[in-house]
Amino acid sequence: MFALASLRAVSPTRYRCGGCGNVTRFDVVATRRTRAFHHYTIGGDLEVEDVEVLDERVEQVTCRWCGASGDTISIEPGAVEPDPIEPGPVDAEAVEPT
Ligand SMILES: [Zn+2]
Repeated sequence: MFALASLRAVSPTRYRCGGCGNVTRFDVVATRRTRAFHHYTIGGDLEVEDVEVLDERVEQVTCRWCGASGDTISIEPGAVEPDPIEPGPVDAEAVEPT
């Protein structure tokens, strides 16, 4: 009846537990705001396609091994993609007058 065909753009954030060193098993509580194409068949079956995450807030991350959460869980450095460079005005001196 319900098939989540693809959930793309899920945050690639990786975590590390400072308590036990776990980097692979976490319970993540998050709020996601998504836009998706709901594709129904004539029979009423739904297939959700083209899920786009518009906003995501991670509320709590808990280690599955030792149960630690909060400040004990750190985000793995280098795992988070750098902010995209805004194509806005650069240094005023570098802009050639047209
Ligand atoms: Zn842990």
